[in-house]
Amino acid sequence: MSASGTDRSPTPSSRTVIVVGGGIVGLSCAWLLQRRGHRVLLIDPVLGSESSQDTATGASRAALGVLMGQVFHRSHGRGWQLRQRSLELWKSWNQSLASRGRPIAHRSGLLLLAQDGPDLERQQTLLADRQRLGLPLSAWSLDQLNAMAPPLPAQAVGGLFSPEDGQIDPLQALEALHSDAAAAGLTSLSESVTNLEPRRRGIGWQVRLQDGRVLEAEWLVLAAGIGSQSLLAGLEGQRESGSGGRAGPPLRLEPVLGQALELEVEASVAQAIGQAAPDHNGSDATPGWPGVVVWHGLCLVPRPDLPGGRRLWLGSSLEPGSEPSPEALQGLRTLAGAAPDWLLRARVVRQWQGLRPRPVGRPAPLLECLAPGLLLASGHYRNGVLLAPASAEWVMQQVEASP
Ligand SMILES: Cc1cc2nc3c(=O)[nH]c(=O)nc-3n(C[C@H](O)[C@H](O)[C@H](O)COP(=O)(O)OP(=O)(O)OC[C@H]3O[C@@H](n4cnc5c(N)ncnc54)[C@H](O)[C@@H]3O)c2cc1C
Repeated sequence: MSASGTDRSPTPSSRTVIVVGGGIVGLSCAWLLQRRGHRVLLIDPVLGSESSQDTATGASRAALGVLMGQVFHRSHGRGWQLRQRSLELWKSWNQSLASRGRPIAHRSGLLLLAQDGPDLERQQTLLADRQRLGLPLSAWSLDQLNAMAPPLPAQAVGGLFSPEDGQIDPLQALEALHSDAAAAGLTSLSESVTNLEPRRRGIGWQVRLQDGRVLEAEWLVLAAGIGSQSLLAGLEGQRESGSGGRAGPPLRLEPVLGQALELEVEASVAQAIGQAAPDHNGSDATPGWPGVVVWHGLCLVPRPDLPGGRRLWLGSSLEPGSEPSPEALQGLRTLAGAAPDWLLRARVVRQWQGLRPRPVGRPAPLLECLAPGLLLASGHYRNGVLLAPASAEWVMQQVEASP
């Protein structure tokens, strides 16, 4: 769908929709549905409070915003398609938001480093595959990597550069989507949902709020991240008592914690990591970093735009459960033992964490119609920022396909 295809005025076929959860997935759903002319109510206790990574409860406010679409290890199947579609949609959504004065800062470029011989071989296979698809990935030799400043982990044996992957500022994205949807008529409620149930009369669903109020709509979208688990458990109870809900085994989400750090690097380092890579095929100047650098699943994200101009985000760990592990944080700080000296010398400005929901026994994310009028858009335990637009598009298609 093009950027202009998002905008529609309310029509008799417009639906009422409640979206539970205002993380990047719920907000993307709410934004798209509202701009398509539906009447949307978004409910999340964090709405109305200022977005901050330090006080984040959900995952989106903790995310680094790295968009890893084209360096994904597969090139077919649902995961691949969602990634490609999302990369396209982020571009067109950003154009649409920018045209109304709400641009999201997007930095292009991602360099995935190879750790050893087998990793390099996998990269070469991936490169050949992507080039067959006409995607602009390129292999970077060890000489090229060694010429870069500041130095990369010395153990790197090669790299794969993807100019179309990159990073967006997640807090800015949340703010832009929310304010743009609000300008189009989105209603938001800073409340917690305690229960979901089919409407007593007529088609649709109702939600019970913590303060006892009950609200209803034709469609309900459950996008409450890790909070989706308890609401789903309530639905399973209803299914057992025969009042609707999804057939089949119960859906379960388990928490996976991620930690991240903001570092202040030395001024000379900051200049190099913050600059766009010059032409690697001709320039004599020492090339700086070409964007995000990924080592061992950990992302180094230059943030020259943050106060002081010397910031770098480093994240994120992948820790089963809800408690942060000091060892995982230490692994992050030292880049799994491969941190170059300049990185070890950087000052930790702040650290934060977030909980994300991993589906148990099913591939992520969960995009499912649980019952007529009830959609689940959750289980984005990784790459949820990347996958939010394609997830929202799936939700929109379900709503609009209904008679
Ligand atoms: C440290 C870290 C770094 C990450 N970096 C990246 C990255 O670089 N790129 C990337 O693509 N992904 C990244 N991720 C993953 C990404 O953050 C998640 O995949 C994504 O944010 C999931 O979004 P969500 O909207 O589903 O969930 P959430 O952001 O968790 O949103 C769920 C919302 O639902 C609300 N809620 C919960 N229960 C209720 C209830 N009962 N009633 C109402 N509201 C409720 C919560 O308050 C919350 O705001 C990272 C995650 C972490 C933790």
